Amino acid sequence: MGIVLCGGTIVTDTACYQADIRIQGEIIDAVGSQVTQAGDTVLTAEGCYIFPGGIDAHTHFDLPVGTMSTADDFASGTKAAILGGTTTVIDYATQFKGETLQQGLENWHQRADGKCYSDYGFHMAITDWNEQVSREIPWLGQEAGVASVKLYMAYKNVMQVDDSTLFQVLERSRDWGILTCVHCENGDIVDNLVRQFRRQGKTAPAYHHLSRPPRVEQEAVNRLTVLAEMADAPVLVVHLSCRESLETVAQAKARGVRVFAETCPQYLVLDDSVYQDTTFSCAKYVISPPLRAKENQEYLWNGLKTGILDTVATDHCSFNFHGQKEVGSEDFSKIPNGAPGVEHRLGLLYTYGVKAGKISLTQFVDKVATQPAKLFGLFPKKGTIAPGSDADLVIWDERRQVTISAASQAQKVDYSPYEGMKQQGQAVHVFLRGQQVVENGKTCIDTPQGQFLFRKPFR
Ligand SMILES: [Zn+2]
Repeated sequence: MGIVLCGGTIVTDTACYQADIRIQGEIIDAVGSQVTQAGDTVLTAEGCYIFPGGIDAHTHFDLPVGTMSTADDFASGTKAAILGGTTTVIDYATQFKGETLQQGLENWHQRADGKCYSDYGFHMAITDWNEQVSREIPWLGQEAGVASVKLYMAYKNVMQVDDSTLFQVLERSRDWGILTCVHCENGDIVDNLVRQFRRQGKTAPAYHHLSRPPRVEQEAVNRLTVLAEMADAPVLVVHLSCRESLETVAQAKARGVRVFAETCPQYLVLDDSVYQDTTFSCAKYVISPPLRAKENQEYLWNGLKTGILDTVATDHCSFNFHGQKEVGSEDFSKIPNGAPGVEHRLGLLYTYGVKAGKISLTQFVDKVATQPAKLFGLFPKKGTIAPGSDADLVIWDERRQVTISAASQAQKVDYSPYEGMKQQGQAVHVFLRGQQVVENGKTCIDTPQGQFLFRKPFR
């Protein structure tokens, strides 16, 4: 006994066509016409698109920062994810100072296991590199199912690594099929600019973005691509935000460096005009990298179109405005960095990308599902609609209109950076490995069904 979704328009990274989908157990059994068997349940998807479940490869749920933790934990974060059509998240587990990678990973399993409404995997953020940690790299990729690490070139004295560490991790990861993801901002220069502003008594949240100008990002992207070239190692630039960095990645790709790049909805649809607000309210937009001048958006959309940008993830890292962001009311450098977004990634990209004519439907699916699956060792189990793949499916009804608002969101945070923005279309029904988890735009399961995903090494 299976489930058949009939009459919908299937969209993959390469094609858009009408066909029925038969689900058997957790898997897509058949795609075509006349796939129904005796005893099957038939659901109509007429007038709707069917996308492969979205993969958000950049989230921070239940992340401790200083004395606080992000507003969303794995339960609320992944519930918001499935409501928005994202059936897999890859979260950044973090090795804190003094820990082994194994301890860091166990910590994240404890935070996530049994609580996730979507499937989930982990990247491993390394903040304390030494001989012993280096010896754990083969274990990480081969036994722990974590085929990617992350390094921060920013956050001096906290997460930031030096070039020596960066280079050693690139070489070691390369040898063991691990993709190195990097937060590219020159943390030393940011630190200088922050201290200059503070000396001048410039402590309002708007100075956050002035302390992290585009060149600070571009310099780090450039350094990374040159070091990756020397190490012949694959790298992924996370949350690329501006034209300068995009052009640097384009040049590196053109000379054969194995560099991939991710951008986020906030850089595609929001801009730095929000920092003109002289009240503390603009702390909602204190994220790193910060929002950029509006003219960058066209370059980023074009980068998605031409393939310079490979994926769109959210960098979901939510802090309540009241009680959390407010910690920095006297000093912008104390505002916890980050914003929510996991719930609205598909909606924003569909509305402001596909409907606005900036990217095609197949490009949309490629950026939100297929490319992340390929880069992070989940393809073809995830990221496509084909017989044998997991039945992670999003039935998208573009006739529905949604107004994004903190009042109606599932994300457990007291604001949305997209407050009041219109979203065309909605994930009306969502399936996770064959089980319906969202029905008519509402969750329809009582208990978390998400599984940890062992990812394949980077090829
Ligand atoms: Zn992040």
